[in-house]
Amino acid sequence: MSNTEPGQRVPTFASLSSFLSGRRPASDRDPEVRTRVDSSDATGFRPAEPDAAESGRTTPPEAADDSGRSDEAPTPDPAVVTGSTPDDVADADLAADPGPAQPAATSAPAQRADEDGTPLARQLANENRRRDRLRAKEISRPPATRYLTVSNQKGGVGKTTTAVNIAAALGRAGLNVLVVDIDPQGNASTALGIPHSAEVDSIYDVLLDDVPLAEVIVPCPDVENLLCAPATIHLAGAEIELVSLVAREQRLRRALEQYEAYRAERDQARLDYVIIDCPPSLGLLTVNAFVAAREVVIPIQCEYYALEGLSQLLNNISMIQKHLNAHLEVSTILLTMYDGRTNLAAQVAAEVREHFPDQVLDAVIPRSVRISEAPSYQQTVITYDPASSGALSYQEAATEMNERASA
Ligand code: ATP
Ligand code: MG
Repeated sequence: MSNTEPGQRVPTFASLSSFLSGRRPASDRDPEVRTRVDSSDATGFRPAEPDAAESGRTTPPEAADDSGRSDEAPTPDPAVVTGSTPDDVADADLAADPGPAQPAATSAPAQRADEDGTPLARQLANENRRRDRLRAKEISRPPATRYLTVSNQKGGVGKTTTAVNIAAALGRAGLNVLVVDIDPQGNASTALGIPHSAEVDSIYDVLLDDVPLAEVIVPCPDVENLLCAPATIHLAGAEIELVSLVAREQRLRRALEQYEAYRAERDQARLDYVIIDCPPSLGLLTVNAFVAAREVVIPIQCEYYALEGLSQLLNNISMIQKHLNAHLEVSTILLTMYDGRTNLAAQVAAEVREHFPDQVLDAVIPRSVRISEAPSYQQTVITYDPASSGALSYQEAATEMNERASA
């Protein structure tokens, strides 16, 4: 696979698709199947709770450029080009219109910007249209708690970034969300502003010492309704320590079941989402996540090597389905770090969509400076810079995932 020349189409990986319901590439089935219908627009969803911090989203498109910048965003210079910072410009260039290609009513200012013809103007007009569409939607509670695990044994593809930003987007929309960090690196805990030094009670104590999950869960300081079970460095030894324990693959599932019962006994609201952030491996910690979850979310970086190892991941999921959790399914694939300037990103995205048309979200996450900066402020991009293109893309992804549950 690595012999591909730059610009050449990446080889198909048809063998992967057989792991997902024996599907063939969509082009072999029905040419219409790849035409995504924005059914959500037809539902007439409205935002559940207008969010003051997201003032940009409630601003008319013609004014959104300036006021879209939140006060809390540590933006060095808010008035460069129509309120965009140099980083926004970089983001806009990199994103190059990766968002859902859905028809939408175009507002007059947006049309004017389109006609202006510069890439930045087109990008801003596109983002305004996408914000309009998001405003028209409501994030409603799923019919039952959804258990998602964000997994990919390839490192650095955006698992943690996806887990925390989807969680933050759902939490800010008013849903009750728990993030379970089972990566010894503790990156999800960091991004959510949760202390995770070695002294802190963590998911290690839950998995290894049967400490109730309720005793280690901490609320996220920046997002109401968002809880986190942090990971500490102790978890690094857990893969080995778990081996000798009884029901070693079931420990996270049992802890979650007990926690649900704990909440019910105290008349606490039902969790809407449990999102598990996995380490970049397929060891016992990831197996615990696969057994506890119903759905696997696979972030795929829009780079060539990101596709390698996907077959192995799907193989493992298939094994878990057979032996440990028959309900597990790959429900969602999210294309991350999309760089619109490269042909390769578009080719990888097209290839993945070809094989997994039902799983790949329309929303695409651009490579974005704001997204990569956010963790150094112990924040998600949703709270760090709500008006950025990265935050917009993660909100679109969260909304789309939530709509799929309700469909
Ligand atoms: P690991 O396998 O180590 O757990 P991961 O799959 O969880 O990694 P992340 O930690 O989410 O990946 O992302 C890897 C790096 O890429 C981080 O520095 C993150 O800030 C950055 N990053 C993630 N998504 C984006 C993006 N869309 N644009 C720019 N940088 C990003
Ligand atoms: Mg990670």
